[in-house]
Amino acid sequence: MLIDTYGRVATDLRVSLTDRCNLRCTYCMPEEGLQWLAKPDLLTDDEIVRLIRIAVTRLGIEEVRFTGGEPLLRPGLVGIVERCAALEPRPKMSLTTNGIGLKRTAEALKAAGLDRVNVSLDTLRPDVFKTLTRRDRHRDVLEGLEAARDAGLTPVKVNSVLMPGLNDDEAPDLLAWAVENDYELRFIEQMPLDAQHGWKRDGMITAGDILASLRTRFELTEEGSEKRGSAPAERWLVDGGPHRVGVIASVTRPFCSACDRTRLTADGQVRTCLFATEETDLRAALRADDSADDEIARIWKLAMWGKKAGSGLDDPTFLQPDRPMSAIGG
Ligand code: SAM
Ligand code: SF4
Repeated sequence: MLIDTYGRVATDLRVSLTDRCNLRCTYCMPEEGLQWLAKPDLLTDDEIVRLIRIAVTRLGIEEVRFTGGEPLLRPGLVGIVERCAALEPRPKMSLTTNGIGLKRTAEALKAAGLDRVNVSLDTLRPDVFKTLTRRDRHRDVLEGLEAARDAGLTPVKVNSVLMPGLNDDEAPDLLAWAVENDYELRFIEQMPLDAQHGWKRDGMITAGDILASLRTRFELTEEGSEKRGSAPAERWLVDGGPHRVGVIASVTRPFCSACDRTRLTADGQVRTCLFATEETDLRAALRADDSADDEIARIWKLAMWGKKAGSGLDDPTFLQPDRPMSAIGG
C-alpha cells in the first residue's frame, strides 16, 4: 500500500502523459508555451504501462487518471489504455482532456477500455474561449464532448475554472447547459500553479462566490458529507436532482486530510501532491540495468510515506512549486 505518516492511503494515480498542449489557458501557461520536456526524458509507452502495472498489482492503486498537458497529444494513448485495461485487477480509468481531438478518438478510447472523461471547458462563448485559451477551438471542444457522451465515456464531467472579469458571470449558464446536455459540471477554484506565477488570492473566484452565483438561478441541496469520501468535489443536487454540480475548492476548502492521490509526471517523477516542492525519481530505477519491480515499488512507497499533511497554501511561507500544472499533470 502507498500509506503516509498521517494514515492516508493512496489508491488514485494521476499519470501525466505529456507536458505539451495545444491550448494556452491563461491560468495555466504563458502565450509562448513552455520549454517542453526532451523526448529522451519522457517515459516511453512501455515504461508508463510498467509503472501502472506495478502501482496496480503491488501498491493498491485502484483508479488511474490520464492527464497532462494534453493527453490526447500522446500518440500511444489508446494502446496504453488497452494494455492497462488488461491488468489484473483492472483499474478504473479516466482521462482529463481539453476535448480537442476527442471527436476522433472517443470511440477508440472506449473500445480500449477507458471508463470516462473529464473535459475542461470554461465558457459557452466562443470569443471568451479564444481570450481564455488563446486559441479559436471552442467548437472542437463541444464536438469532443458530444462524441464522448455518444461513445459512452460516461458520466462525462466538465471542469470549469472561473476567471475574474472574463467568465465569472457564466456559472448559471454553464450549469443550465450541463444539465441540458447530461454533463456533470464541476467548478475548480483557480490555484497558484500557473507557469507565469500570476495567481492572486485576492482576485480569485472562490467556491462561496460560485455557489452564490448558482443560487440566483438554481436550488442547490448539499449531498451528505459521507458521500464526499476522498473525492475533491463537494457536490450539490440541482433543483432536487438527479443532476449534480460540484465545486473543487482546493484553495478555500482544502480536502488534504482525505487525499488519496499519488502522481506521476511524464518524465517519471513521483509527486505526493500537486503542491509538493519535491519529487522522487522512478525513471532512473526503471532504466537501471538491474531494474526490478520490487525496487521501484519500494522507492514509490518511500516517497509517499513522506507526503506532507497539506498543500501549505495557507502557510505564509508557501512556495509555488517549480513545475506548473501542465508539467505536473492536473
Ligand atoms: N489539458 C487537459 C485539460 O485541460 O483538461 C489536462 C491537463 S489540465 C492541467 C487539468 C485541469 O487543470 C483542467 O481542468 C484545467 O482547467 C485545470 N487547471 C489548469 N491550471 C489550473 C489552475 N491554475 N488552477 C485551477 N485549475 C487549473
Ligand atoms: Fe492545456 Fe489543460 Fe493547461 Fe489549458 S489547462 S493550457 S488545456 S494543459
